[in-house]
Amino acid sequence: MSKPSPPVCPECRTPDTAPVDAVSTAELAQLYRRHGVEVGSYFDGLDHLARYRCAHCDLQFFAPACAGDDAFYEQLQQFDWYYQDEKPEYHHAASYLQAGQRVLEVGCGKGAFHAFLPAGVAYVGLEFNDEAVRKANAAGLDVRKDTVERHAAAHPGRYDAVCTFQVLEHVPRPDTFLDGCVAALADGGLLIVAVPAEDSFLAVAANAPFNMPPHHALRWTDRALRHMARRRRLDVVELWHEPVAPFHRDWQEHTLAHQYFALHGSGGARLIDARLRYRAIGRLLRHAPLRAWLARRVAAARPVLRHGHTVVLVARKRPAA
Ligand SMILES: [Zn+2]
Repeated sequence: MSKPSPPVCPECRTPDTAPVDAVSTAELAQLYRRHGVEVGSYFDGLDHLARYRCAHCDLQFFAPACAGDDAFYEQLQQFDWYYQDEKPEYHHAASYLQAGQRVLEVGCGKGAFHAFLPAGVAYVGLEFNDEAVRKANAAGLDVRKDTVERHAAAHPGRYDAVCTFQVLEHVPRPDTFLDGCVAALADGGLLIVAVPAEDSFLAVAANAPFNMPPHHALRWTDRALRHMARRRRLDVVELWHEPVAPFHRDWQEHTLAHQYFALHGSGGARLIDARLRYRAIGRLLRHAPLRAWLARRVAAARPVLRHGHTVVLVARKRPAA
């Protein structure tokens, strides 16, 4: 019997994908449970989820796909970090925008980004969550419950900028999602995308359930973002990595210090590391000066791990030839 063929890449649709590693769904559910979040029902009887990498476009994705539903996101509302009203990427994106422009935000929540826009920007938001749409509308914002695919079909070429913040790592069909974003842009318009950076300490952060399904399905490297832009005739204006946020400094330092031991002996970072060895190292790393020293050594060897949580891509739509 031949082995089942690997899944096609959800972004570039080529079959050039290969498994990188896998996680046990039982262990993953247990990690979420430690944060008070129940996810067992989303794994649908699967023992393992595999992480794949596309050799063609460099996107990483988990398969089989299992996305969170409304009830899952409802559970995340309890965290004050989840829907922050201020994010560095809001300031960064707004610096590209001017009065008189039409701006579409896809997956806008209750429209917190609107407060950062220059006066005189015509803002439209798209959002699925009924409660968020209601709040945005009550605040006088033009926020609609719709997909970007449908909205772009009705309003092709309408916007000077299409922005989407911390959404593209969740979507099951990034190909049609991004096609929709670009179709909604006028020639010369800007696509501004913020996602968790895989070219950052997150790439080696073990036991971080929120960067795995059913929360995050996709992992974007800089290369994958550039490929995504090029393939849609967008010119990359900027790829901006945010510095490590004050509330992530501890997490980043622990991650890098752990990475010192992964590099020196045990075959690299794991998505989930439940071994005694990992816990023993964790106890050792309670010693703050040692932890800081090891983290600095690792950062010197792999500077990309100094990057903070989020990367922002700004890319311009070329006129049709
Ligand atoms: Zn691909």
